[in-house]
Amino acid sequence: MKKGLMYSIVAGAALMLCVTSAQAKTTFVTIGTGGITGVYYPTGGAIAKMVNKKKKEYGIRATVESTGGSVFNVNAVMNGDLEFGVVQSDRQFQAINGLAEWKDKGAQKDLRAVFSIHPESVTLVAAVDAGIADIKDLKGKKVNIGNPGSGQRQNAIDALEAVGINPEKDLQAEAVKASEAPGLLQDGRIDAFFYTVGHPSGAIKEATSGARKVRFATVTDMDKLLAQYPYYAKSAIPVAMYPGAQNDKDAATFGVKATFVTSAKVPDEVVYAITKEVFDNFDEFKKLHPAYSTLTKESMLDGLSAPIHPGAMKYYKEAGLIK
Ligand code: GLU
Repeated sequence: MKKGLMYSIVAGAALMLCVTSAQAKTTFVTIGTGGITGVYYPTGGAIAKMVNKKKKEYGIRATVESTGGSVFNVNAVMNGDLEFGVVQSDRQFQAINGLAEWKDKGAQKDLRAVFSIHPESVTLVAAVDAGIADIKDLKGKKVNIGNPGSGQRQNAIDALEAVGINPEKDLQAEAVKASEAPGLLQDGRIDAFFYTVGHPSGAIKEATSGARKVRFATVTDMDKLLAQYPYYAKSAIPVAMYPGAQNDKDAATFGVKATFVTSAKVPDEVVYAITKEVFDNFDEFKKLHPAYSTLTKESMLDGLSAPIHPGAMKYYKEAGLIK
């Protein structure tokens, strides 16, 4: 009897050990975003929040990292430093096709699309006292075109070249992160900056609410550029979101979409779980940031140029979003 009790205690303890170790098997994934005053950072947080709620069910723990932006994220996902990244749709296209920053390295064949998220606009914020109302006024000015890891840098170069401004010769180009640009603009150390970002964003609120008066400069005469690159589309900055901005109407520009990407090497069940939690709880997800106001489940499948990851595809087929 005593012996029997002893055995069952030992068996019970062994069983408990098994359960604990099964629970302890957590898969950690990191999502690369952007500066903390952008929209990628809260977006990474929103996605992580959806899947972390089901940690017991999936054994996945997602964390978010602030990074230099799209180009950094593609490269970090490709070399395995990050499992996921938020990346501009144009950068996804360029990476999978070996263009722009990937011209020398070649096509990033393992890049996989998961879904797209909010629209982003090429946002040109300029000091009123610098006399900049349109991109064509940037000649001779001190302008932050963006850090090399960012998505906006190539957008700024494309837009400047489209209006005949050589970013190397015709202006003083700075290469700082978007999170630092509002402070530099307010301190009078730059005249303007480019940021490809969703609205509203913390960085643009910061830039438009200081003592130095600023406005959104228009980015016009882009028809040829838009015709040349299918990933660019006309858009406008919703100035009502920024009461401090010296604009009386929405500023015309062009934009892209934020997308969520991963690597072919990330297991199907991890990508499936994240996709399922975001889409099954779509209404809750949509409330997590005002930049998501126009999202629909169908629109979240637009703007993807890399192959869709099989884990995500499994969900889209189950949900009838893809036949
Ligand atoms: N579009 C920017 C980039 O690719 C980031 C914008 C954001 O963080 O919201 O670098």
